[in-house]
Amino acid sequence: MEGSVSDSPLLRVAVNVPLSREFDYRPPANAAAPVAGCRVLVPFGRRQQVGMVLAQVAESALAAEKLRTITSVLDDVPILSAADLWLIRFTSDYYHHPIGEVVAAALPAALRRGKPLHAAVERVAITAAGEIAHESLMKRAPRQAELLETLGGAGTDGIDAAQLTELLPTWRRAAQGLFAKGLIAKYEVRAADFDESLAAAAQHGPTLNNDQLSALATLRRSDRFGVYLLDGVTGSGKTEVYLQRMHDIIEQGKQVLVLVPEIGLTPQLVGRLRSRLGIEPALLHSGLTDSARLVAWRAARTGTARLIVGTRSAIFTPLKNPGLFIVDEEHDHSFKQQEGLRYSARDLAIARAKHFDIPIVLGTATPTLEMLQHCRNGSYEHILLPDRAGGAKPPAIRLIDTLRSPPTDGVSEPLAEAIGKHLDADGQVLVFLNRRGFAPTLICADCGHIAGCERCDSRLTVHARNRQLRCHHCGACRALNEHCSECGQPVRPLGEGTERLEDTLRHRFPDHVVERIDSDSTQRKGAMAAALRSATAGDADILVGTQMLSKGHHFPKLTLVGIVNADQGLFGTDFRSSERMAQTIVQVAGRAGRESRAGEVLIQTAYPDNVFWSTLIHGGYRQVSSEALAERQLTHWPPFTHLVLLRSAAHKKADAHRFLDVARQHLETQAGTALRILGPVDAPMARKAGRYRAQLLLQSTDRAKLHRILRVLRPLLEQHRAARKVRWSIDVDPIELF
Ligand code: ADP
Ligand code: ZN
Repeated sequence: MEGSVSDSPLLRVAVNVPLSREFDYRPPANAAAPVAGCRVLVPFGRRQQVGMVLAQVAESALAAEKLRTITSVLDDVPILSAADLWLIRFTSDYYHHPIGEVVAAALPAALRRGKPLHAAVERVAITAAGEIAHESLMKRAPRQAELLETLGGAGTDGIDAAQLTELLPTWRRAAQGLFAKGLIAKYEVRAADFDESLAAAAQHGPTLNNDQLSALATLRRSDRFGVYLLDGVTGSGKTEVYLQRMHDIIEQGKQVLVLVPEIGLTPQLVGRLRSRLGIEPALLHSGLTDSARLVAWRAARTGTARLIVGTRSAIFTPLKNPGLFIVDEEHDHSFKQQEGLRYSARDLAIARAKHFDIPIVLGTATPTLEMLQHCRNGSYEHILLPDRAGGAKPPAIRLIDTLRSPPTDGVSEPLAEAIGKHLDADGQVLVFLNRRGFAPTLICADCGHIAGCERCDSRLTVHARNRQLRCHHCGACRALNEHCSECGQPVRPLGEGTERLEDTLRHRFPDHVVERIDSDSTQRKGAMAAALRSATAGDADILVGTQMLSKGHHFPKLTLVGIVNADQGLFGTDFRSSERMAQTIVQVAGRAGRESRAGEVLIQTAYPDNVFWSTLIHGGYRQVSSEALAERQLTHWPPFTHLVLLRSAAHKKADAHRFLDVARQHLETQAGTALRILGPVDAPMARKAGRYRAQLLLQSTDRAKLHRILRVLRPLLEQHRAARKVRWSIDVDPIELF
């Protein structure tokens, strides 16, 4: 029999499974059918799954006797609006990703798991009996005693379960016995709602300079859709311009959504937004507990929060009454998710702003070539802030030839001298090296054996602080042995990472405070905030750090930036190498001399004559990017063509390749000449975490056609036999080609 028609509507549901299709169900027999945007519990195979109703439909392709009935309706009002569902559908279509998985990515964890929108918060408290029992438990059950002690310190209200998990990750195990004995008790309260009111009134900012005023005037020309690229050198006062525009929109009673890079959501930025706008921002980022995230999400959805600030996934937050989007540091890679649903939050923000017919501002000192090209062809508005605000001068950049002045443990004589000079003048110094750990290589001085990862084609990095060897690709970790595993002779760490650089600088400048800031030093909760506070206050004289230090921070005393190893990007194989390298250097250099004192930037390079340097030093990022654009046009790389990367990984190399061969065959018959197909080839790192990886790159000038072909390809690959042995993915507009 062919499909079925029903009197009462059927429900089309997105279920969180890796299949590019939607599933039809019957509504419950004796209740009203839930509308689009409501969650439902549905039977799926032998399990129950949380699903999202996408639509009510009159007929199904499924035979009537095969239609199953939903188990229960989880929401009595839709938690997602039509506009929110539009974004989910758009994301699924554009990134060729199963819609059920997009829904899952768009919802806060609590809602994804089927918890109610107004979830009760679980709290745990010590009972009177527990207060007494504490002492006697100490010896017999130290874990239980520890939990009792923590709860004892919290008083009769107890502690939020999520908070308890952060303090004592395994508390639930210890709690079982205590609940049974009545020594602790559990109760639920309704989660507090978001409150955006503050005690303090908004503070005034500086008077805008002429460039800022004219930028603001351009932004104020329209409240309707338009993409504005606010391209201003570091410290040019972009944030001041956003703040004014945000203020306008918030005054109109509308909401502003600000997307920031993963490590850009600093207490510094939040504090500035809070004090200048006089309202509490609703924050959405991965560092929050599930319940705190849900509170912010709900406030955005109901419109209670007028200012929403978040990292990548905040783009999916429902908004009641949006008026403006801002993407700060548009060029930052953390806006692109690199696994699972590989979306670009910046690009989705542009699509969503268009759907809402509201303006979007992209701010950066180093715009991506994609955005620049949109400005050139007139579809986006290019707004320039060429000078630093408040009279600060741009830093002077100088190269140090490392062949003539070879560095010792990372630091050359001219760099050391300059550091000494700036410290003597009471300046602060930042030494940048984009490589954490002590040394990137461990080599045997005798037999030359290099410690490699057993699961990846990569070397192990020496981490001296905790005496480990770690693989930065798969996370593998083992104890550092001072003798070669092959011949037993002593081994030697080769090259430098931030840990070694920290030691070198401590040794050379024993009277100064050296602070290392990278993802290792800031793992502990609150460590990052503390390090940034001390850097901003000027308590640390020398900052040593990675990429983490390069973004958005304002260190008033900082006058010298030293870039230790700048050559990694000069001969990169990726077509984006020079764009990236220029972005990193300009961003790091931008930390120097942001106030009255002039800044200086010293770059150690073995290739001072490379034309990249003269272009950057004399023409700045503007010149580098304009030459790179010309080159991309000649060589047919993005933004002049569109890319899609198919990746596969398998335990056997042949399986990874066979899967992509299937894809290639299909593409060849479908696409003809509209598509350039490169591969399949081994990925640049062919083995990672024990799997062999291969890739197939698709390139086309015709984006619509490329997407039409993928729409057919995806379901075909999902069902193909060759897919069973591989993990595979489709990456639309990839930013990493490996
Ligand atoms: P950006 O976002 O471009 O890096 P910010 O808005 O953070 O720049 O401004 C950099 C610094 O200059 C901040 O300390 C800010 O308070 C100051 N500033 C910005 N605009 C002005 C202005 N018009 N007059 C004086 N100081 C300003
Ligand atoms: Zn590894």
